[in-house]
Amino acid sequence: MTPEQFRQHGHQLIDLIADYRQNIAQRPVMAQVEPGYLKAALPGAAPQQGEPFEAILQDVDQLLMPGLSHWQHPDFYGYFPSNGTLSSVLGDFLSTGLGVLGLSWQSSPALSELEETTLDWLRQLLGLSAQWSGVMQDTASSSTLVALICARERATDYALVRGGLQSQAKPLIVYVSAHAHSSVDKAALLAGFGRDNIRLIATDEQFAMRPDALREAIAQDLAVGNQPCAVVATTGTTATTALDPLRPVGEIAQAYQLWLHVDSAMAGSAMILPECRWMWDGIELADSVVVNAHKWLGVAFDCSIYYVRDPQHLIRVMSTNPSYLQSAVDGEVKNLRDWGIPLGRRFRALKLWFMLRCEGVEALQQRLRRDLDNAHWLAEQVQAAADWELLAPVPLQTLCIRHRPAGLAGAQLDAHTRSWADRLNASGDAYVTPATLQGEWMVRVSVGALPTEREHVQRLWERLQGVVLG
Ligand SMILES: *Cc1c(COP(=O)(O)O)cnc(C)c1O
Repeated sequence: MTPEQFRQHGHQLIDLIADYRQNIAQRPVMAQVEPGYLKAALPGAAPQQGEPFEAILQDVDQLLMPGLSHWQHPDFYGYFPSNGTLSSVLGDFLSTGLGVLGLSWQSSPALSELEETTLDWLRQLLGLSAQWSGVMQDTASSSTLVALICARERATDYALVRGGLQSQAKPLIVYVSAHAHSSVDKAALLAGFGRDNIRLIATDEQFAMRPDALREAIAQDLAVGNQPCAVVATTGTTATTALDPLRPVGEIAQAYQLWLHVDSAMAGSAMILPECRWMWDGIELADSVVVNAHKWLGVAFDCSIYYVRDPQHLIRVMSTNPSYLQSAVDGEVKNLRDWGIPLGRRFRALKLWFMLRCEGVEALQQRLRRDLDNAHWLAEQVQAAADWELLAPVPLQTLCIRHRPAGLAGAQLDAHTRSWADRLNASGDAYVTPATLQGEWMVRVSVGALPTEREHVQRLWERLQGVVLG
């Protein structure tokens, strides 16, 4: 494709995306296809000769579109929102179009410095002190893996430059809430801690980590000669957006010199609202925190921000310094390859920069407040309605709800819950996520897609009341 052809097809593609966003409400939210539908429709091998761009666009429309569940749809209430503001989409385009890599500062100086600057802007927006430095990762899963590797290395005085974990006399222990995200478990396994050394800490009636249970678990490990190493606390758990109490947890972590990593992948976005900052009171006691700008905040996936208090430690753990990457200015600049696992770095900061500049902080705050209001309105309806229940507090924009007709309990209630959620999703009218909480099925309704207004949430409530009737 020549630049002239790119110019022509690029316009077509932008039109396609703009039309898609404009008319998205007309599509069923959840894909209505059977497994294997696309593989059966596509040729088994790549074409020998190039095809016209129009043929590709036609397949996008006719083959791919039916196989998409539409996350940017106003009736999308699944998982957590993953908003791709169109301003950030353009930033993403530019990143790919420029095709530059940040292997070192020198390999693309603007790439490194824009990342540093935008993450400092975001730090201020989140209300974090100037002691934090940020770096972009792809996802929270990677950020948390980096955090636990750093925790491991601090606890072992940099065992990785000696015999690694295999040379440790005592098992290192990680403490996580029983409601932590599966990525925390995965990170602990990949960082080499081992399943036997992950402690699931009991939660209270609001599904938040119990500091007394944490303290007790640490004492037990110390008593048998294990080495407590790290705590992962969550602000906004996946099932219920529960808030682990950071201040008491942080004080315990400090008392025992444990690394405190805070998973705020979802709730971090809310910290641009000063009225929400109480949710992570005590955050300054943490060593690292992850905020997914690609969730509610609105930066097109993927854009996970990892903030640390001690970048020198991060660099010591992550850096390698092959000769072909060294340069004369290394002492004066940040080489972001030393701030995470990959060497190559895309120009991800562009999409955050575009979004912040095009939208402005006030509009972002307004949108998040709109979503909080809508979620709280829906929570009030659920609470006031006979036969409906809210199963967890709603500090943010996610509700855990259940329809419980008189006399229904146990397996029958579970079957009822799953069946109406599946009917709703299959209808294409709305997309919700059935999930278990304490062994029972409920339905998560996560408000906050970009185009979701009060009228959509009102319509959702009507649909919910209808769909449970069968
Ligand atoms: C979304 C989420 C994750 C995982 O995020 P990825 O970026 O997809 O890895 C982890 N923890 C919490 C609390 C989340 O909400």
